[in-house]
Amino acid sequence: MTPENREYVSSVLAAKSKLKAGDWSDQNVWNTWVESTAVVCAGGKAGERRANRGSDDGWTLALDHQGLIPYHEASHLLLAIVFGDFPYQVTIEPRPDVRIAGEPGYHVGGYAHYGHAPLPKEPAFRPGHEAEDDETQIAREVAVLADGDESRVPMIRQRIEQRAAALLDDVWPWVMVVAEALIHHRTLGQDEIREILAPRRGQWDAQESESLKCGVT
Ligand SMILES: [Zn+2]
Repeated sequence: MTPENREYVSSVLAAKSKLKAGDWSDQNVWNTWVESTAVVCAGGKAGERRANRGSDDGWTLALDHQGLIPYHEASHLLLAIVFGDFPYQVTIEPRPDVRIAGEPGYHVGGYAHYGHAPLPKEPAFRPGHEAEDDETQIAREVAVLADGDESRVPMIRQRIEQRAAALLDDVWPWVMVVAEALIHHRTLGQDEIREILAPRRGQWDAQESESLKCGVT
């Protein structure tokens, strides 16, 4: 992991542990946390761009929308793990029963489910729940960070995109491993995700992979 990424990840982990400990007084801590959730969200599209970028020796995957979904979901998942969240499930199985809010005729095409507790407290979607697409969520978080100053929106947005892309560069081999497993199995549960990633966690960095440790045998 690059020193810059490591520093950023440390600041996110520090902010999250303060909030977890009940210290909610510091606005910077909140902003760091809000930005990190936007980075995880932006990771989906950033992962798609990364997957289609090709390798240095000239190979390009040239994937269509459907083919990019495993990379999209694996990218969300890996960024969430880097920020200390526990992975619960990742899938490329469409959910026709979960509509996208504000997008008539669209439903969830796959998702990554993760959270701060070792086990999920609730399912990814409740019956009748409408999901929010990544764009809507990022725009909401950017608005929080801009705090009413519209002129700051493009700069904040750009910073989030850059952070997502830079972090994905560092964990790309693991995104690929998860994406390939998704292509074969379509859905990976908690144990399968850990099984895939745990033996490799030391290879990217030890500090942010706490969430992969429990339950690994
Ligand atoms: Zn997404």
